[in-house]
Amino acid sequence: MNAHAIFPPLEIPETLAAGPGPGNTDPRVLQRFANSGLADHMQADVLRGMIECKQMLRQLWGTSNTYTFGVGGTGFSGLDCMLSAILPGDSVVVFVNGTFSGIDALTIRMKAATRAELAANPMDPASASVTVVNVPHGQSVQGGTVAAALAEHRPKWAFMAHWETGSGRINDIKGFSDACEEHGVMGLVDAVSSLGIEDFSIDDYPGVAGWASCPQKGVLCLPLTYAPVSFSTRYIDTLRATGCHTYVHHPLLEARHWGIIEGQDVAAGSYHRTHSGYAVAAFHEALRLTLQHTLAQRARDYVFHEKALRDAVSAMGCQVTSDMTSLVVLNLPGALSGREKELVQACRARGFGIWPTLSEPVQIRIGILNQLSQAAITDIVLLFAAAMNEMGAEVGLTAVRAQLDQHYKVAIAAQ
Ligand SMILES: *Cc1c(COP(=O)(O)O)cnc(C)c1O
Repeated sequence: MNAHAIFPPLEIPETLAAGPGPGNTDPRVLQRFANSGLADHMQADVLRGMIECKQMLRQLWGTSNTYTFGVGGTGFSGLDCMLSAILPGDSVVVFVNGTFSGIDALTIRMKAATRAELAANPMDPASASVTVVNVPHGQSVQGGTVAAALAEHRPKWAFMAHWETGSGRINDIKGFSDACEEHGVMGLVDAVSSLGIEDFSIDDYPGVAGWASCPQKGVLCLPLTYAPVSFSTRYIDTLRATGCHTYVHHPLLEARHWGIIEGQDVAAGSYHRTHSGYAVAAFHEALRLTLQHTLAQRARDYVFHEKALRDAVSAMGCQVTSDMTSLVVLNLPGALSGREKELVQACRARGFGIWPTLSEPVQIRIGILNQLSQAAITDIVLLFAAAMNEMGAEVGLTAVRAQLDQHYKVAIAAQ
């Protein structure tokens, strides 16, 4: 290889993003990104944009939490900011029911580990102060499970994913919040997959002290922008008293650039790190579009189209094991069982971007982020049926299309 090679410009093809995320970013968001002028991170319109984003984020989360803002980066950046309040030796109970809550549990064990525990196994520490409650893949975390574990361990913190995207399961957020309140525990929630999809207000869950989401799923702003977070007064007071081991992901410091200082909204942000005017403009537009659509309508649209997809793949002999409204997780019919990865690879090779599960057992995940139309769902279903047929299934495409048409006709009439 020539060490001085000049590579040609990177061409990335258009694909049909039909996975758990990222979702298709609206062209209006990309336009805001590309049409923004070159302005520095302290220029008045950039700062105003951040303050408007903060206000829109409070609407999106349904909260009066002052400490509501975006953390530069991906979903795990927001989660890292939220989890930074967990200090070595802190007691935590973590509920795991899939890939992402599993990774969050690893983050928590790394943060809560003592120096000796971390040195004993730096990449996967066993932390005596962290209790991991495993719920089998394909099942939801139930309020009763949370209540029993918190009563037994009485930790400082509890953690759960709201929607576990690994297995497509919705966990009992009310049960989690109630149990946290009852036992005086500060709940922390990974809401990466639910924000912007389900119509909920975090202020209805007072047991939860910290929430973290991402830019690329329900909010649909992939151009690497901001992971929404929100913290209660109790979380902030606790953090103020203990401090934490980070500058860049410190919730109190990060909030300053969004015009939140000493628990108060101030007129303009103050420097924390170099925010990009392009990212601010794109994020601002994505939030505007989300709020214009309204959370209530979005949630209804996801329910409506997920049902069409679920019924279609079920009629093709697949077994759906998920209950999220943005994602269907399924097993192939008996004759094709065990060939899930092969089918996913064949689809991805031709630009139909579905996904396998990322941890055992192997299943197929088909998502509908920003694919909320009969035409888009029909495309997804027919591409999937064709891929099954190439592996020897005998799905009648005309019948599948007719069933979908009928489904939409009946469902639209019923609305
Ligand atoms: C996607 C996802 C993440 C990770 O988000 P990134 O943007 O990839 O960092 C974390 N938790 C859940 C529940 C997710 O669905």
